Amino acid sequence: MLKNPKYVYGPIDRYVTASLNFGEFILNKIQENRDKIALINGSTHEQLTYGEIAQEAMNIAISLGRMGIKKGDVIAVSSENRREFWSSIIGIVCSGAVATTINIGYTNDELKHVCGIAKPKFIFLSPLAYKTHAKIYKALPYLKKIIIFGDDRLPNTILYKDIALPNNGGVNDKKEGYRLTENIKYEDFTPADVDTNNDTLFILYSSGTTGLPKGVMITHLNVITLCSPSTPIPTLKGLSITPWYHTMGLVSTLAGFTKGSTTVYLPKFDVDLYLKTVEKYQISQLTVVPAALIALCKCKLTYDTSSVLMVFCGAAPLYEETAKAVRERFPSVQAVLQGYGMTETTLAITLNFNPDKIGSVGTVISHTVVKVVNPETREVLGPNQEGEICVKSVMVMKGYIGKDRKEDFDDEGFLRTGDIGYYDEEQYFYIVDRLKELIKYKAYQVPPAEIEALLLRHPGIREAGVVGAPHPTAGEVPIAFVALQPGYNLTEKDIQDFVAEKLSNPKHLRGGVRFIDEIPKNQTGKMLRRELRKMVKTKKSKL
Ligand code: AMP
Repeated sequence: MLKNPKYVYGPIDRYVTASLNFGEFILNKIQENRDKIALINGSTHEQLTYGEIAQEAMNIAISLGRMGIKKGDVIAVSSENRREFWSSIIGIVCSGAVATTINIGYTNDELKHVCGIAKPKFIFLSPLAYKTHAKIYKALPYLKKIIIFGDDRLPNTILYKDIALPNNGGVNDKKEGYRLTENIKYEDFTPADVDTNNDTLFILYSSGTTGLPKGVMITHLNVITLCSPSTPIPTLKGLSITPWYHTMGLVSTLAGFTKGSTTVYLPKFDVDLYLKTVEKYQISQLTVVPAALIALCKCKLTYDTSSVLMVFCGAAPLYEETAKAVRERFPSVQAVLQGYGMTETTLAITLNFNPDKIGSVGTVISHTVVKVVNPETREVLGPNQEGEICVKSVMVMKGYIGKDRKEDFDDEGFLRTGDIGYYDEEQYFYIVDRLKELIKYKAYQVPPAEIEALLLRHPGIREAGVVGAPHPTAGEVPIAFVALQPGYNLTEKDIQDFVAEKLSNPKHLRGGVRFIDEIPKNQTGKMLRRELRKMVKTKKSKL
């Protein structure tokens, strides 16, 4: 068959790993580096070696099996970034279960929605996640066990240490058959068998091109391919603040593990602590979303950041001015890399290593083919023509849980990204707009459908439409257009408070509320978001 001259093909990978079971693959890699430091908590300075992660992961896998976990069962993890996270993830995977990561910042309704998709049987929680959401978790009929990180025994839960470390000495040692008396030996251990192509490894959440968050099924093969030697993963000492529940934190940290690199992490982003950590640990690589980069560039605090050689940015647009400001803020930086991708593609579709192409999201990575199509006619477009980016790759998800693939993949098997962009003569890609509804506030996903559904639950709101308003530091902020029921006299603040009570922080209506008589719709009654976006640019309308 001939190649399509308008498609853009990534390099062909020559190195394919022989091990196609992700549990086996990652365990093998981290075992090779067992004496090296894998993780350092930048605020407590606690360190963890690869050997410790591997040991706890194997112990957890065996304990989970003894607790009745079978291949294909789903186990959730909800925690801020902390030491137990990775052994839990790798332990779950090695037990044959599917891991799903849940944002600790979710509100009760958001939590119920995502749990309803994956229906986890067990959940690993940090004490903070437990404190925030225990009541909800305890009411889920399918959730059978709660495993808690840290040292405090809580009623009707299992302590992480009891399944990750032998002889941890619990209260009911004799009754519980899963307790280990000694560490599981690497030589004696084998992860559960998998069907690499079809078995789901992770369930992550994304709203895709439309609607509410859906369960993205990422397979073993997806992640193994991403971690293959040909994927350009830096091996420098990195500082990670991206939350590990999101694909950018989850998969890029795992990929870093396969290279034996050291990751310093912070449970949350604080500019002062961040820069202090860069100085203390002589960090070479920063992995950040654009909003964090902007905050770092604006900060006038003086710390020695001369160790920083590389900045890797993704998950939202990185503007030219920010990339230039990074070079002034961190003069020793040799490269500001930008990646473009989505949860549905495991991590990246394109990467930019070229300092002469600031503003571009780069070229197509290996194992990947991209085409740009006219969104209406689906005609394939050539260089410098804007259209919808469509991607086909070994790293593209299997599909969304419970959703027909046909809705998101075209006849040739390309995933429709819902992003508008083009490539230049040198096949460098540029993202210029979004066809899909999604709003990105500081790289967090904000699905407008979720806010609209909530607004419509208010008795005083007849119609509602939400779009993103451009924002200089956050990228975008959600703004609501609202038509009130006759007889209701709600203020902007009433509606902002109503949303703030029910939805997590990124979804709050920071862009404000505009009152209109009617939401613009087409003949079939479908909301015309385009029109709302145009209205964002006009002056604020009065009630
Ligand atoms: P997520 O699944 O949360 O990673 O969101 C994926 C979406 O974020 C993409 O479909 C894009 O709309 C946006 N995105 C990610 N990276 C970039 C980038 N480098 N430039 C512009 N938009 C991006």
